[in-house]
Amino acid sequence: MISPVAHVGEMASYELAALQDLEAISLAQNESAFPMSPAAVTAGRSALEQSTLYPDPDWSSLRQSIANNHKLDPSGILCGAGSMELIGCIIRAYAGPGDTVVGTEYGYAFVATAANQACAIHIKAKEGNLTVSVDEILSTIDKTTKIVFVCNPGNPTGTLIPNEDILRLRSTMPDNVLLVIDQAYAEFADHHQHPQEVFQLAARGDTVVLRTFSKAYGLAGTRVGWGYFPSNILLEARKLLNPNNVSITSQAMATAAMDDQEHMASVVTKTTTIRDKFTHAIRNLGVHVPTSHTNFALLQFDSPQTAQRIDEALKRNKLILRSMGGYGLSNCLRATICKQPTMDRVVAVIKGELQ
Ligand SMILES: *Cc1c(COP(=O)(O)O)cnc(C)c1O
Repeated sequence: MISPVAHVGEMASYELAALQDLEAISLAQNESAFPMSPAAVTAGRSALEQSTLYPDPDWSSLRQSIANNHKLDPSGILCGAGSMELIGCIIRAYAGPGDTVVGTEYGYAFVATAANQACAIHIKAKEGNLTVSVDEILSTIDKTTKIVFVCNPGNPTGTLIPNEDILRLRSTMPDNVLLVIDQAYAEFADHHQHPQEVFQLAARGDTVVLRTFSKAYGLAGTRVGWGYFPSNILLEARKLLNPNNVSITSQAMATAAMDDQEHMASVVTKTTTIRDKFTHAIRNLGVHVPTSHTNFALLQFDSPQTAQRIDEALKRNKLILRSMGGYGLSNCLRATICKQPTMDRVVAVIKGELQ
């Protein structure tokens, strides 16, 4: 009998959306409904032929392009095979057996998995009104806490807390606890906030900011994420990254996508316009939808039974939303914003079920 190490044997596998029905439209994984920048397609095609060689292990062009477009120091940037890879490396570098990683009640589920992979304990700070509460996080931190994870805007809630709350959290929590701010959806909210206020926290030496190409840039399949790190933390997290982690084509595509800010901004505008119209239509049916600052909306029904009945009706209509039982929100379904005709179908099915 071959046995795994105890903490792995006890772990549950990370659950992705159930997408077995190939004819159905997925509104389950928050991928972009709009195509990537045409420049990214061109760059990816020409990079294919260079793929005999290993990729640039330092992501030089990609880092430079991220730095230029965000006014950051390229040496503070680390790139991952998705920001999930960076989340895993950060947790393994700073939390081990007996340590706790504090996330939030409805925070990103992968953080708990990554903590368990490191044999650390994941604890959730309560949220209020489906929104991150800095005071609840502060009262959850104790001597065992090594890392605090805040997803802003939040997934699966879509809600946003102001930068001043993040700054207050950082200045109030202990200096020896690492703060990680996951901004996977920030491109949908950057026009509301001053992104530099958060990136500048890295200069303190105790805070990391993560972003991704998977959402607003429409490159989920290329698996590229990035983070802005203090030099001390970058050095440790990098030891745990797989060398040559981002393929030649992925680096080329992400670089071209980053340099086409105009395309990204137009995707954000189209997506948020459809989202706001969809939110309005769903609220008109008497369903609660927290104001979203992302490319998805959380639909909160009156009971888990209603949510399940609507989920089944949508599935019969080949529309797959993400059920939220795993987050303790079994009365909710999360809908990725797709093109207008798809969202119209979702509204029609829900309307039919609620009448
Ligand atoms: C989608 C998402 C990510 C990004 O994951 P990638 O590995 O970069 O695709 C990270 N955090 C949250 C909260 C997300 O929703």
